[in-house]
Amino acid sequence: MKILVINCGSSSLKYKLIEMNDDKVLCQGLVERIGIENSLLVHKNLFQEKYSIKENFSNHKDAIDKVLKILLDEKLGVISNINEIYAVGHRVVHGGEKYSNSVLIDDEVIRYLEECIKLAPIHNPPNIIGIKACRELMQDTPMIAVFDTAFHQSMPDIAYIYPIEYSLYEEHGIRKYGFHGTSHKYVSQKLGEVLDRDIEDMKIISCHLGNGASICAIKEGKSIDTSMGFTPLAGIAMGTRSGNIDPSIYTFLIEECGYTVEETNESLNKKSGVLGISGISSDFRDLEKAALEGNKRAKLALDIFYYRIRGQIAAYAAHMGGVDAIIFTAGIGENSSITRKACLKGMEFLGVKIDEELNNIRGEIVEISGDTSKVKVFVIPTNEELMIAKETIEVLNCS
Ligand code: AMP
Repeated sequence: MKILVINCGSSSLKYKLIEMNDDKVLCQGLVERIGIENSLLVHKNLFQEKYSIKENFSNHKDAIDKVLKILLDEKLGVISNINEIYAVGHRVVHGGEKYSNSVLIDDEVIRYLEECIKLAPIHNPPNIIGIKACRELMQDTPMIAVFDTAFHQSMPDIAYIYPIEYSLYEEHGIRKYGFHGTSHKYVSQKLGEVLDRDIEDMKIISCHLGNGASICAIKEGKSIDTSMGFTPLAGIAMGTRSGNIDPSIYTFLIEECGYTVEETNESLNKKSGVLGISGISSDFRDLEKAALEGNKRAKLALDIFYYRIRGQIAAYAAHMGGVDAIIFTAGIGENSSITRKACLKGMEFLGVKIDEELNNIRGEIVEISGDTSKVKVFVIPTNEELMIAKETIEVLNCS
C-alpha cells in the first residue's frame, strides 16, 4: 500500500512516496521557487540517486502535476498507475482547537482550515493550496490532513491558557497550541517500540531541536505541555527565533527603537535566537566551531540555548512528578553530542546521567544514558513523513 506525503510551503513542495508494507521510501523530492523564476525540482529515487529538473512552475498545482508525472515516468517513476497511490497525507500546520486527530479532508475541513489561516498566516495558506491542487488532480484518491498542532490538543487548560484577558481566548482563540506534534508523537511512540514498553505508563520529555525547536512533556502517551505557544515563535531560544521574551520588548522596539511592526516580526523571527546573539550563524556546526576557537558571543549563544532547554526539562519533570525518559531529535538533537551533553549538565539531581562514549556514537537510534542513570536518554531520528503516512492509514481504517 503506497501513501504519498505532501508538505507545501509558501514557495516549496516536499513529497515522499512510502510503501507502507515495509515503511520503505520509494522516492522523494523537493520543488523550490514555485511561482518564482528558475523553479527547481530535485527528485531522488529509491537508491538516493538525484535528478534535477529545471522547469518554471507558476503555482503548486503545476508542481504537483509534474511530481505525479515523474512518479509515473518510465525511467524515474515508481508506479504505473496513479490509482496505486492509496491515499495522500498532507502536512497541515494549524488545526485550531477542532482537530485533535488527523482527519479525512472534505469541503467542510477545508472551510475550517481557511478559518485557521488567521492563526497560521504563513503556513496554512500553502498547505490548503496543496490540498486543493491534489484534490483536483487525484479526484478518486482520499486526502488526509495531519496537523502539527493536533498532538497537543490533549494539554490541560492550565498549560494552554495564557494569563491575559480570558475574552481574548474566547473571542480570538489566543491560547497555546504547540507545534512539531507529529515529530513528538513519532519519537515517543518509537521509544515505546524500542523499549518494548507501553508509553501510557511513562513520563517522557521530547526535545525536538532543529532550526525550529520545541520541547514536549508527554504523560500517559499524551502531550501535557509544550514550549511553543500561540505561534512557533514561543518557547526556548532557536536558530533565528527569540523564543520567550518579555512581551514588552515588542512594543519597546516599535515605540523606542523605531521598528515597524513588520521589522519587529522580522527581528524576532529571523534575526534573533542563536543567530541574533552570536551575530555569526544559526547553524550549530558554525557556532560550535566558533566557540571552540574562542568566539565569546558564539559561546554565549550556545550557553543560552542550553540554559533554556535545561530549565524547560526541569520544569516539565516537575509538572509530571518525574521523568522516565528524555528524547533528543531533529537536526541538532540527532547530530550534536555537544548540545546533548550541555543540555543535561547538572541534571544528576533528576537521575539523569549520560555516558560520554555512547553520546558520541552516531547511528540510528542510540541510548546514551549510562547504566546508573535512572532516566533513560535516547537519540531517536524523527520521521514526520512516516508518521503522516501512518496517520493517513489510521484515519482511513477508522472511517
Ligand atoms: P532541522 O531543522 O531539523 O533540519 O535542523 C537543522 C539544524 O541542525 C542546522 O541548522 C544545524 O544547526 C543542525 N545540525 C545539523 N547537523 C549538525 C551537526 N553535525 N552538528 C551540529 N548541528 C547540526
